[in-house]
Formats: sequence, structure tokens, C-alpha cells
Amino acid sequence: MAEKNLPFSKEQLESIIENHPTPFHIYDEKAMIENARNFKKAFSWNEGFKEYYAIKAAPNPYLMKILREEGFGIDCSSVAELELAKRIGMSGDEIMLTSNDTPAYEFQLAKDLGAIINLDDISHIDFVDKHVGLPDTICMRYNPGSLKEGNVIIGHPEEAKYGFTRDQMIEGYKILKEKGVKHFGIHTMVASNELESSYFVETAELLFNLVVEVYEKTGVKIEFANMGGGIGIPYKPGEKPVDMEFVSAGVKKCYDDIIVKAGLAPLKIFFESGRAITGPYGYLVTKVRHIKKTYKTYAGLDACMTNLMRPALYGAYHHITVMGKENDEANVKYDVTGSLCENNDKFAIDRMLPEIEQDDIVVIHDTGAHGHSMGFNYNGKLKSAELLLRENGDVVEIRRAETIEDYFATLDFDGVKDF
Ligand SMILES: *Cc1c(COP(=O)(O)O)cnc(C)c1O
Repeated sequence: MAEKNLPFSKEQLESIIENHPTPFHIYDEKAMIENARNFKKAFSWNEGFKEYYAIKAAPNPYLMKILREEGFGIDCSSVAELELAKRIGMSGDEIMLTSNDTPAYEFQLAKDLGAIINLDDISHIDFVDKHVGLPDTICMRYNPGSLKEGNVIIGHPEEAKYGFTRDQMIEGYKILKEKGVKHFGIHTMVASNELESSYFVETAELLFNLVVEVYEKTGVKIEFANMGGGIGIPYKPGEKPVDMEFVSAGVKKCYDDIIVKAGLAPLKIFFESGRAITGPYGYLVTKVRHIKKTYKTYAGLDACMTNLMRPALYGAYHHITVMGKENDEANVKYDVTGSLCENNDKFAIDRMLPEIEQDDIVVIHDTGAHGHSMGFNYNGKLKSAELLLRENGDVVEIRRAETIEDYFATLDFDGVKDF
């Protein structure tokens, strides 16, 4: 994909902006559904295949409802995320809790909802047993350490805080079996925003070999293997998306060679992808407030880090389109900034763009995952609305923008008067 396309025209956006002031995130329902169907279809050979959408990527009940209709479950890692699942009526094995440093009340809520609990540490076996009682089904998160090279964002697995060592996994299944747990899963997640398709095949191979080893050493027959998230998306023009058909074919070969051969089929395959499910289908729509020329040329937007943290946090690339100037020559070098009193509040540094003017509409691409959800209120900046562009072209507000009253909601100004 050399081009970065948009699901709306400049005229369409202008008419949306009449009712919904910038900045806002807007999600493309049609493309999201198409992608969800393709993801599922790629693994149709595996009975019980399920994608648990990592809700932290875009914790909006409307988006989750759309994905649930496509058969997706929800992957939660906090009480608020479990509560979101509960409030839209999800329960049982539709929910997976993959958290770490987990409080007892979070395990309790997960158990109450019948969610699949994925333990992050061997000490959590006793912790869950003592505080909430072990459920019938348990999953454990494997950290392969130096057996697997990590990628840039997640680092090296042996430096990562997540998961059990290999020996602890074996020990864990033994203990859980003795304690009467009946159904078992295995999980790993060793990458973030990984674009190399073969990486996910290697992950499957690693997990499947451990499934066999666990069976040989403990007699436990694992029923599902969760490959985690971390599937990358092409943020930069010219980058290629992960080829899910290739991943599926590679995983199936490992499945046949390892799981079927060991007599351990069927094994359900799960993912808990966030970015690859909604990332490319969200857009941050903003307007240019000021053009400033000092030692560099700045285009100051009405959006800031609050709306999208990734560029400032990771130096991440997000493509930028200046509406109506798509075909103009990109011959001016800009720092595209927000208004925070933080010099890293920049959406792009030294980006070549067509000449920008005040009030131009600027669209920042690929904000459908880890976009709105990551924002903070530092400097009194408020989080924006989220809109959904429906398949029929309608636009629905699926989250209103924060107000100053929301910002002050945790403060008691009457108390200050008497203080
Ligand atoms: C963040 C996270 C995911 C989703 O990651 P993506 O990069 O959005 O696919 C899945 N599982 C766990 C445990 C996570 O922490």
C-alpha cells in the first residue's frame, strides 16, 4: 500500500464538522467490519478460533458491539475494562482477563463474570486460590525469555515484566491440576506492532512445542493457545500489512506437525489483537490554528498529545493528510504541533507537507487503536469526541467530548471556600 486512503472527502468532512467541532476521532465502520471478517476467515480451519479484541486499544462500547457481532470476544486488563464488558452484556468465555500486578478485586470481578483468567505469575495461583477461589478454567502467560527475540516496542522478553518462565509453566500446570482445575489454556505475547508475518508463525511453533512438553511432563491437555496481540499495521506509506493468510497457513502447518502429530488436537487458537483490528480505521480530524515561523516552521493544530500520544511517546510515525491538498507538492517542512506546554507535543517533526494555511483541515491517520484511549488530561487538556462513520454514510457520536465540568468533577470547590 503506497497510498494512505481516506473514507471521506473534504466536502463530507466539512459537513461533519458543522455538527461536530474539531478535534475528533472518527472510525470507519465498513472497513472495520470487512477487516474483522477477513481476520476470522483466515483461521476458519481452526474450530473454536476466537479473537479477543484488546479493549484498551479503543474502549468504546459501540465499537465493541460491532466487533462482538462479528464473533469477537474482549480482552481486558483492568476492572474498568471488565466493567465495560459487563455493561454491554458480555460474560463467560467471551471475556479474557490478561492483566499483570493484578489486585484481588479484579480477579473477583473476572470470576464473577465467568471470564477466562490468564495468570501472569506463578505466585498468582495461590493468590487467586486464597482470595477468590480457583475457577475451573485457567490460562497462564508464558515468557520465553531468551528463546525468542523481542522487537523494538516490547523489548527483549527476558527484560519484560510479563509471564512465567518455562520451568514455572510446567510447575504451574502441575499445581493447578492438583488443585482441581479442569480446563487449561496457554498464552504468550512477545511483540508489539510487529509487521513481519513469519514472527507469528514462530510464536505458534514455540507455544505448540510447549503444549506438547506440558502434556508429556504433567499429563495436562491444554485446550486453547492464545497468541496475544502485537500484530502491526502499516503506519507509513509503503509498509506492508501482516499477511494473515500467510500467518494462518504457517500456523496450520505447525499445528499439523506438532499438535496433531502428538495427538493433542483439537487445540483452539486465540488472538487478542487490538491495533490490527481497529488501528487503521480511525482518523484524528483537526484544524490548523496557527502557522508560526521562527527557526523552524510550525503548524499548530487544535489537537494535542491528549488526543494522540504515540508520536510524542514513541516517536511513532502517523501519516498526515492536509484536506484538499492531497495532490499538491509536499514542498514545505513542518513541525506539526499541539498546544501543550511540552516541546514533545508534536505529531510530526520535519515532515514535508503541502503549504498549510490557518483553518485547513488536517487528518492524522491510523488513530483507531491506542489513540483516544491513551490520552491524558495534563495541562487541563480535554479528551475529544469519538464519531462513527456508519456503513450507510451516517455519522454517530459514540462518545461526547469532555467538558471543563468533567475535568473538575473530582474536585470540591465548596470545600475550598471553607478551607
Ligand atoms: C496491549 C495488549 C494487547 C494488544 O496489543 P496490540 O498491539 O494492540 O495488538 C494484547 N494483549 C495484551 C496482554 C496486551 O497488553
